Amino acid sequence: MSVTYRVPSQVPIPGIERNAAPYLYGPEHEALSRVLAQGQYGHTAETEEFESELASFLGVPDVVAVASGTTALQLALHAAGISAGDEVVVPSMTFCATVQAVLAVGASPRFAEIDPDTLCVTADSVAAALTASTRAVLPVLYGGRAVDLDPLRAELTRRRITVVEDAAHAFGSRHGRLRVGATGELTCFSFGPIKNLTCGQGGAVVPRHPLDAAALRTLRGLGIAESAEQRAAATGYRVTGHGLRAGLPALNAAIGRVQLAHRDRAERERRTLWTAYREALADIDGVRTVDVDVARSVPSLCAVRVPIEQRDRTFVALRAAGVGVGVHYPPNHLQPAFRAWTRPMPVTEQTGREILTLPFHQHLRPGDPARVADALRQALAGR
Ligand SMILES: *Cc1c(COP(=O)(O)O)cnc(C)c1O
Repeated sequence: MSVTYRVPSQVPIPGIERNAAPYLYGPEHEALSRVLAQGQYGHTAETEEFESELASFLGVPDVVAVASGTTALQLALHAAGISAGDEVVVPSMTFCATVQAVLAVGASPRFAEIDPDTLCVTADSVAAALTASTRAVLPVLYGGRAVDLDPLRAELTRRRITVVEDAAHAFGSRHGRLRVGATGELTCFSFGPIKNLTCGQGGAVVPRHPLDAAALRTLRGLGIAESAEQRAAATGYRVTGHGLRAGLPALNAAIGRVQLAHRDRAERERRTLWTAYREALADIDGVRTVDVDVARSVPSLCAVRVPIEQRDRTFVALRAAGVGVGVHYPPNHLQPAFRAWTRPMPVTEQTGREILTLPFHQHLRPGDPARVADALRQALAGR
């Protein structure tokens, strides 16, 4: 018996009630059907095509696709030799996934302060957090903006400290003229549901050299040395070390390839949206927009600061008014799971109590930033 399934044509379009939402360009449906019909859903040529398309988009020799942004961070740290006893400098102002990746390799997070204007670590705040045990620095490219650690480069190199970038917000952004990912660091991207390029779920690491790439490919494939193709043609395989099931399935890669083909639109629409927010928010008393360096970045969110004593009430009022406001992020050094590594972080703590993130996704219409700004103005005025 055969049953016909149809793609629902009347799915609701997300609006300002959603803080974030994936945006499909259309051909993702066809691409998924094509891979479903092919009958091979794991790591296939589809994954490898996506990797080489990512590499040419970023302007790098190679990219390793993995299961998520979190696994990208974990595998990158592992490939860089970070393990138990090592310290990794990381901002507290990030998604908890960043810190969990540090713990996943057995290392300890050493929290660093942020610049209150950008919510990113700086060369100075990282320098202040370094200890004799620091083996890696993990800057988070908050909102999509590149983090410039160049003033610290010589010092990091001298101390053999690796930089692993959490660029989950920053796919497509630029550092100077180069794309983030093309500046020589181990850069990690997330292609999760609400990231600016989505695979449904997925991630990628930009290796620094072929040795990184080989280590990452073995790690993501259960520690098996041979490629899937080699394995299929042989009677055995060699498990050479630690590994996870952490590859990017063909189904997810197929979605990502369509998304990547529409980058121009993603970049244009996200810049336009962020700029419209900046203008709409400019004259609201007590509101400060967190700058994402829109000329060089592909913005992932729009964060504002409001007075501490009004933040929680404003959050509730906006939610009640149907505005999908969020908080990115509650500081990690105050989380129960990370208490062992807490230390005073006044800038991060104040930010955590002032910040709100406004609805930001490509379904929003041109008038929406002004509508959200009006709702924010009224909520702050207590109306
Ligand atoms: C989304 C995100 C991650 C984790 O990526 P996943 O693909 O969800 O595992 C890590 N860091 C930051 C800053 C993120 O926003």
